[in-house]
Amino acid sequence: MPPRSPLSRGDRDLLEFMLDNNYSYRSMARRFNCCSDTIKRILMREELAVFEGAKYSQQRQVETWKRPCLKCKAETPRPKWQYVCNDCKSPENSGVPDEFMKY
Ligand SMILES: [Zn+2]
Repeated sequence: MPPRSPLSRGDRDLLEFMLDNNYSYRSMARRFNCCSDTIKRILMREELAVFEGAKYSQQRQVETWKRPCLKCKAETPRPKWQYVCNDCKSPENSGVPDEFMKY
């Protein structure tokens, strides 16, 4: 299996340098002999930059569960490991029993 990243350490450093110095994606692309879309994808994959828009976004699915809320027993889906629903999560209501805090 070839490594996932086609970038050598030096290439990555160069990209980072170009980013820091506000080079355009086009000049980065020219330097790396690819199109600017590819450069953007590489930057994303190397987590050097984040781009808006579905074209480049990697869907990061938040895991949810329907565990009944510790306080009001509501079973509305919420992010996993969140034990109380958003309504009960408000600061003035944030008294979660200790035993549920040490997962
Ligand atoms: Zn609740």
